[in-house]
Amino acid sequence: MNELTLVHPDAATTIFNLDDYRVLETQTLSFGQRRIHIESTVESGCPGCGVISTRRHSGRQQRVRDIPVAGPVEVVWAKRRLFCDELLCPRKTFFEATIEVPARARTTSRLRSALVKAVIDSGRAATETATAHGVSWWLVQKALNMAATKLPSVDLLRPRMLGIDEHRFRSFRFFKDPETNLWQRIEPWMTTIVDLDTSQILGVVDGRDHTGVGAWLIKRPLEWRLFVQVVAIDPSAAFRKALRMWLPRTAVSVDHFHLIQLANQALTEVRQALSHQVRGRRGRAVDPAWAHRMLLLRAGDSLSDQARARLEKIFATDDPTGKLKAAWDVKEQVRTLLRTGSLEDAELAKEDLERLVKESKQPETTRLWRTICRWWKEIEVLIVTGATTGKVEANNTSIKHIKRTARGFVNSTNYTTRIMLRSAARIAVNHP
Ligand SMILES: [Zn+2]
Repeated sequence: MNELTLVHPDAATTIFNLDDYRVLETQTLSFGQRRIHIESTVESGCPGCGVISTRRHSGRQQRVRDIPVAGPVEVVWAKRRLFCDELLCPRKTFFEATIEVPARARTTSRLRSALVKAVIDSGRAATETATAHGVSWWLVQKALNMAATKLPSVDLLRPRMLGIDEHRFRSFRFFKDPETNLWQRIEPWMTTIVDLDTSQILGVVDGRDHTGVGAWLIKRPLEWRLFVQVVAIDPSAAFRKALRMWLPRTAVSVDHFHLIQLANQALTEVRQALSHQVRGRRGRAVDPAWAHRMLLLRAGDSLSDQARARLEKIFATDDPTGKLKAAWDVKEQVRTLLRTGSLEDAELAKEDLERLVKESKQPETTRLWRTICRWWKEIEVLIVTGATTGKVEANNTSIKHIKRTARGFVNSTNYTTRIMLRSAARIAVNHP
């Protein structure tokens, strides 16, 4: 006798399509609600001893939340309580459980997966997803937390190259905690730690204070930290110093984007100082150098012939001392230096840079030169490894999106969960 095995499932069971269940009966209630009565088609093992049993003790009707099946449905499971026939087992009876509805669950696994997918794919807030699926916010959050526990532990990964980048996602705000009714200040800064080989987000730390990153790093096992060979950061001396404590054997690389920003900033300051010297006032639209201030900052090697001609005209008409051109040459040489592929080439580019800085004889370019020298070791690491925080920044864009959609997040672990899930989901798509 094996009445549980269905050779030809009936139409309702086929359409309902919930693994390990069969439809017993369907009802249309007043107002058109549909109720589906189901029972399981698999045997259950006793949670105490694992022995399979089919001897029925009693039963109960359990409501189960499920995905809509051609519209919303109410699902009622005729759940059996079974005898445990193992004599030595202290447990006399137990309720059956399935993969779709495990012990103590009140929802189907397929509903929980659908909720997580909806949140991760759409980037919508948990509350919106809850409304769209007709479930509570808490159920969505619980499903997200469950999915997060199934993420591979960061400590089991062995990243070689880390990128650490701080990011401001908006101005600070206050939120009222629904549980304690207290107002809480939510920090607008966050720091992200990314595996530069896979772009996976390994950690998200609130605030821009480097102690947060330190606390996160120190929680990793020692062999994890020793495995990290390179860490890319923004040029911050305090951060560099602190990293020696947390990752003593790791080479530090400085992000080339931030160095180019410093070079651009030096050029802008030179342009502003020249305007004051030559005209005794700030730049205006009639001044070629001011009108084309963005053109000055663009990468010299990517300019069209037309743009290059405009640039030459600025130097010919609005740069009587030749200092603007000299500072522009310094900026371009910094870019050339950062593009080199070997330490030998970098060293030669550095010599050229030093010569250009000396020729330019300006405090702004001298300051830039000193910064380059102070970060030379880290620049060498950048040139050899190519480790930049660029990937962190790409991730930050999606994090910003999550933070914005999750308007009401008071609990920082909730959005951290979301960020990690989304990152892991993207990794799974890109590296199946
Ligand atoms: Zn048992």
